[in-house]
Amino acid sequence: MLRLQPLRAWPSQCLICHAWPARSLCPRCVGRFVQARPRCESCALPVPAGVTRCGACLREPPAFDHCLVAVAYAWPWTRCLAQFKFQQDPGLAAALAELLAAAPGVADALAQADLVLPLPLSAQRLHERGYNPAQLLAERLAPDRIRHDLLRRVRHSAPQRDLPRVERLRNVRGAFAVDAARASALQERRVLLVDDVMTTGASLGEAARALRAAGAAHITAVAFARTDPA
Ligand SMILES: [Zn+2]
Ligand SMILES: [Zn+2]
Repeated sequence: MLRLQPLRAWPSQCLICHAWPARSLCPRCVGRFVQARPRCESCALPVPAGVTRCGACLREPPAFDHCLVAVAYAWPWTRCLAQFKFQQDPGLAAALAELLAAAPGVADALAQADLVLPLPLSAQRLHERGYNPAQLLAERLAPDRIRHDLLRRVRHSAPQRDLPRVERLRNVRGAFAVDAARASALQERRVLLVDDVMTTGASLGEAARALRAAGAAHITAVAFARTDPA
């Protein structure tokens, strides 16, 4: 059973089309801009219809078992997510979590997850921002199974955005850890790892490696948006 917190009760403006009064994202914009497309089961990159796994994942599967996203990281989501990253808007958090929960495969993954972990920010970034957008999503997806104390970001890494892929992998190596004292909570557990935006999946992959090493049995990575190749 999904238990999402309700959208705020007072009227607001649609962030995309500015319809008013409306929810943070009006149904018309959701219908227009959330369009499910076939994606690789392992890394969520777009694939042709009927294909379950992309060539790259067949050659070298990612550290997580499964990957699900709601939308491509493109307009208007770039703008919505920028607002979400820098303004702690509960209405928008609820609207994005609701869309993520409705994305193909996410309800099943949520139902099967023992633990739901937001991808942690470094202490430095958390201090700059004041909150972790991934945590706001995870809290709404599964308030009963969220854990903040299992996965830690042990190293601050440069922003991934502007780095080439090889550099991104190097940039996040060893960035996440599970305290040995807490690893028992992960033994044989199915974990849902939540992020707001996935670029190459390097950070999610590195976090999954740490969780797997600590004993997690199955890891599904979910992100609201994923950068698709041009
Ligand atoms: Zn709208
Ligand atoms: Zn793939």
